[in-house]
Amino acid sequence: MRVPVDQLRSFVTSVFRAAGCAEDEADRIARHLLASDLAGHPSHGVVRVRNYADWLGGGAVVANQEVQVVSENDTLVVLDGGYGFGQTVGEQAVAIGLAKAEGPGVSVVALRNSGHLGRIADWAEAAADAGYVSIHFVNVAGKGLVAPFGGKERRFGTDPIAIGIPQHDRPPILIDFATSVVAEGKAKVALNGGKPVPDNAMVGPDGSISGDTSVLYGEVPPGKNPDPRRGPGALRTMGEQKGSALALACELLAGVLAGSATSGTDPFSNGMLSIYLSPDHFAAGDFAAKATDFADYVRSAAPADPGQPVQLPGDIERAKAAEQLENGIDLADGTWADLTVAARSVGVDVPVITQ
Ligand code: NAD
Repeated sequence: MRVPVDQLRSFVTSVFRAAGCAEDEADRIARHLLASDLAGHPSHGVVRVRNYADWLGGGAVVANQEVQVVSENDTLVVLDGGYGFGQTVGEQAVAIGLAKAEGPGVSVVALRNSGHLGRIADWAEAAADAGYVSIHFVNVAGKGLVAPFGGKERRFGTDPIAIGIPQHDRPPILIDFATSVVAEGKAKVALNGGKPVPDNAMVGPDGSISGDTSVLYGEVPPGKNPDPRRGPGALRTMGEQKGSALALACELLAGVLAGSATSGTDPFSNGMLSIYLSPDHFAAGDFAAKATDFADYVRSAAPADPGQPVQLPGDIERAKAAEQLENGIDLADGTWADLTVAARSVGVDVPVITQ
């Protein structure tokens, strides 16, 4: 189904408001979730509302949190997110990182114990909009979901990495991906009747490789929220041994070094190690203009398929967002059903969607 952006945003905001979030937080969570749906990553969109509402009700995430400074010096700050919504403590962590990088041209921010940080490109985009290059390593604590290369048991989270590069007179390059073949939410969207996952996304308990979501969720009883902790198998890392190495780096940098929890330990949290770099401090000339020239050179490569010009990271999401802003967000039926469950659980009426 297609749902106009403004109607979906106001519905989702009302759910979080009723669940206990202050007006600005409810609006912020809705804005980030919808941005992910708009960008064509429904795994980190409103499909999360039901989980977030359950977590809030059960105390696994805390409304209206403020990050606490654990330690800091001129360029480095360690922040504790106190299990606040990632949309809130993530925005605070980026603002602190950018403010810190102003003088020296570089800052490092370790954010521990954050609630779900959503689509990590949001943080890279915020930095790029302020003129900064940024690099973000994220790990996911809670029961692991991803097998290491050569294994069939879970040891990693889906552990994403994002890099944002400002461009001259155009939107930034946004590199942003899970180190698993797909993010967990994409398997949930597939289970909800959305796009299927690739047939190499999972490894079963017998070591066989498949795209069957029951490997991750087990058999889901009707009406129950699919729980990726219940399946007998695991997601696989992207790029075989290379993705596995990057996932290990995420766990060690965003988990261990940041002082956050690591995969395989409850409760759920995201850790994030972010590095902010001011191009002006590198004496490399006009970085954004030169980066744009190089990006154009890459784009100019002859396409393997004449109908598919070479694109750069961030392009595909922007095109998808433009289309869905116009025509409404494309929601899987199961995702709408989950939204209505979440709304009713906090006493919010389900709106009638008008086109
Ligand atoms: P993906 O496999 O779709 O990869 C996305 C990246 O590839 C983007 O940078 C995109 O611009 C680029 N890309 C896609 N098609 C392209 C093309 N044709 N040409 C050039 N570049 C192209 O993404 P994913 O791994 O499924 O991750 C989805 C989202 O999940 C990400 O936003 C990630 O941050 C998020 N995530 C979050 C968590 C968390 O715990 N918060 C965990 C895992 C993933």
